[in-house]
Amino acid sequence: MASALKISGIRKTFGHGDKMVEVLKRIDIDVAPGEFLILVGPSGCGKSTLLNIIAGLEEPTEGAIRIGDRNVVGVAPAQRDIAMVFQSYALYPTMSVAENIGFALEMRKVPKADRDKRINEVASMLQITHLLDRRPAQLSGGQRQRVAMGRALARQPQLFLFDEPLSNLDAKLRVEMRAEIKRLHQVSGITSVYVTHDQIEAMTLGSRIAVMKDGVLQQLGTPDDIYSRPANTYVAGFIGSPT
Ligand code: ADP
Ligand code: MG
Repeated sequence: MASALKISGIRKTFGHGDKMVEVLKRIDIDVAPGEFLILVGPSGCGKSTLLNIIAGLEEPTEGAIRIGDRNVVGVAPAQRDIAMVFQSYALYPTMSVAENIGFALEMRKVPKADRDKRINEVASMLQITHLLDRRPAQLSGGQRQRVAMGRALARQPQLFLFDEPLSNLDAKLRVEMRAEIKRLHQVSGITSVYVTHDQIEAMTLGSRIAVMKDGVLQQLGTPDDIYSRPANTYVAGFIGSPT
């Protein structure tokens, strides 16, 4: 089957001359349709840069990105059919939850009846139907995070990108939202790439895990591969160590 996402020979450098740093060193990853791929590694190893290249927020120095059957290098972020969830869930404060979720559909001129239907589907998937009339200020942190995901989900993207979405939440909420993201992936089936520096999050959420260090992909495998058959001592130490 064709890949949902194909990352080929991606290099990224920042700066020039003696100030040049190579942040990504030839990364190759193939993501299958419906997969939940984790990018894990210590802070500064290049995870966000790679995610931003997939999203089109940065262009690679070399290499290709294919989403579905399209080469998207040079294609604007809005035309890539992706949705991104960050740790700062910037909801529109003056809009209700329903309006927040429906906003992207409104911009695309989706008729109101279809919009309302989609808002209700998404709200029921996320179990926030009872919150649709509230404003963001009247929500808890976890509820806001759900609305942010609802907003991304409403557009039915081909690809979901997450950059450490849970890192601002307290420990209890983080565990709850981890389960929520897992459930959401199961019901939506949308191919996802999820960046984290948290080994536990990686092992519990990933269908496969890409372990990175200093811009180099150390190993790509299932949680069992990574845990039972680490490719090198770095992977063994990283996954084995508590967060
Ligand atoms: P991670 O998300 O894994 O913490 P990043 O992808 O944010 O890592 O950053 C990787 C490296 O690239 C870091 O050393 C960071 O300082 C550097 N970097 C990121 N963006 C830029 C930029 N726009 N200009 C220069 N260096 C950058
Ligand atoms: Mg980052």
